[in-house]
Amino acid sequence: MKAVYNFNAGPSALPKIALERAQEEFLNFANTGMSVMELSHRSKEYEAVHQEAIDSLKELLKIPDNYKVLFLQGGASLQFSMIPIQFLKENKVGNYLLTGSWSEKALKEAKLIGETTIGGSTKENGYRSIPDLSSLQMNEHDAYVHLTSNNTIYGTQWSHFPDISHAPLIADMSSDILCRPIDVEQFGIIYAGAQKNLGPSGVTVVIIREDLLNEDVSHVPTMLKYQTHAESNSLYHTPPTFSIYMLNQVLRWVKEQGGVNAIEKQNIEKAKLIYDAIDESNGFYTGHADKEARSLMNITFNLPTEEDNKKFLAQAKEFGFVGLNGHRSVGGCRASTYNAVPVEACLQLREFMNAYRK
Ligand SMILES: *Cc1c(COP(=O)(O)O)cnc(C)c1O
Repeated sequence: MKAVYNFNAGPSALPKIALERAQEEFLNFANTGMSVMELSHRSKEYEAVHQEAIDSLKELLKIPDNYKVLFLQGGASLQFSMIPIQFLKENKVGNYLLTGSWSEKALKEAKLIGETTIGGSTKENGYRSIPDLSSLQMNEHDAYVHLTSNNTIYGTQWSHFPDISHAPLIADMSSDILCRPIDVEQFGIIYAGAQKNLGPSGVTVVIIREDLLNEDVSHVPTMLKYQTHAESNSLYHTPPTFSIYMLNQVLRWVKEQGGVNAIEKQNIEKAKLIYDAIDESNGFYTGHADKEARSLMNITFNLPTEEDNKKFLAQAKEFGFVGLNGHRSVGGCRASTYNAVPVEACLQLREFMNAYRK
């Protein structure tokens, strides 16, 4: 098999060791004589996996005891609706900070439910930057303030978060959860579809502060209530057991790497290899994001012309680089360097970029 360097934007690379371990016990999980996929979600063997994944996330992200970790379905996209459905009440306003396509999509869903406002946006510069914290507009009627911590498509990332107390801060961390340490206490809710940094698709992680579970949500369908899932430890109905099992394998791997601090160090090293190839190219490659807003996870760049982008992408593909096409909405090139992408892949990409330019 020829070497493949996986820079897919999502679903994306998983740690090889996590896949190998899953393969080893694929047909006989924990001496049950069955695959983990064939077990009841009420069995003690499955419940142990489920609980270990919750506990590992709490440990790795230092999640305080007054937060619950939930495993839901419907992707980050269903969170765009679940949040306003329960928290956007009459006379309240959902405050959205726009930094890219995903924040726009979150806003679009909230508009279907209630009143919204845009407390900050970098749309006018093509989402090359993150708003200045001092420029954000907060309002006393905010039901919550919503942001996207990493902008998967444009390649920008918040480096600091607004410190607010008038309303819960809610973050879509789908494409950068576990890439660096965060202070969970700054947030009321953090959510993330698993398929970028946590595991395969199918499970969405929600970290929610307990006081937000006390809202009156009697109007909300059972499956869309956070309460339902919090009260049953995400076992109200059949959870995506295999996705949670793989998530647990990935979390074990993160711990073996030395936890989130060690992962962050690797991510900085990886991203630097590629950003250096851009910065040292005398303008042959240009980054989309302003330098101070650059993402550790999605590196977006262009060659001088659209024709050049195409040629570069075609040659890269021949050399085994997968997933370097920019998102269909913005074009150009994008290297997604999520946690599980090895340093070696980034080294190879840097070498390729330098050689191609020459
Ligand atoms: C990928 C992505 C989503 C969409 O996630 P789904 O699980 O496909 O719904 C939402 N937000 C961000 C920031 C993403 O990167």
